[in-house]
Amino acid sequence: MALPSTYADRNCSLARSLEIVGERWTLLIVRDAFFGVRRFGDFAAQLGIPRAVLTSRLKALVQEDVLVRENAEYRLTEKGVALWPVVRALMGWGDAFYSPDGEKRTTRHDADGGRLDADGRCEECGAAVPVPEIRIEPGPGYRPPADPDPVSAAMSAPRRLLEPVV
Ligand SMILES: [Zn+2]
Repeated sequence: MALPSTYADRNCSLARSLEIVGERWTLLIVRDAFFGVRRFGDFAAQLGIPRAVLTSRLKALVQEDVLVRENAEYRLTEKGVALWPVVRALMGWGDAFYSPDGEKRTTRHDADGGRLDADGRCEECGAAVPVPEIRIEPGPGYRPPADPDPVSAAMSAPRRLLEPVV
């Protein structure tokens, strides 16, 4: 559902962006896609999202060219991958203010293991690391689920972004 259009919104691209990614679940679907989830049933199992809502959100993301559907799989487009700094920044904000034991997930440059700073630069080699070369792994604030579904278990192991989970 689009936000009501107001005069102020017309001159702020935040309002336009939120029409795409501001709905409940949408950024979680995008996050899962970064973590390698591709299949409808895997999104449903991992997120615990009602299937009708998942259908509607995936359709909207395909319409907006954030995801592309190929056979039975959804993948981030170039436009979708461009949302990574948004996802990373919101995860970092949540870690800073709502995760007393530290970050839930750590991002590293897969090639040399260097941690990524808040701007996505490798602290080892200084490179601005492209999304497919980022490794994500559980951080000090991570709490594994008691009885993880296979998708959640795969997402909890150290892995490169965008690599398929199954
Ligand atoms: Zn590096």
